Amino acid sequence: MVRCPECAVEIDVDEDEVEEGEILNCPECEVEIEVVQIHPVRLNVISDEDDEEETETEAKDEDEVEGDALGEEEDEVE
Ligand SMILES: [Zn+2]
Repeated sequence: MVRCPECAVEIDVDEDEVEEGEILNCPECEVEIEVVQIHPVRLNVISDEDDEEETETEAKDEDEVEGDALGEEEDEVE
């Protein structure tokens, strides 16, 4: 049993019946969810405004920011 990453509702996914890359729809919030891994099943919400897949924790990590030597794409909006 896995949970929707978006609304945490339980989704009945049989890891023997899904394939990597398969797109599911959450029955609760109707978000599109991609199966990114099986055994165990791992899901990734597909969002229009969120493309990042492996940078989830990177966004707000100030420890890694070292001055302006690297032109990182950061938008500071006040
Ligand atoms: Zn959901």
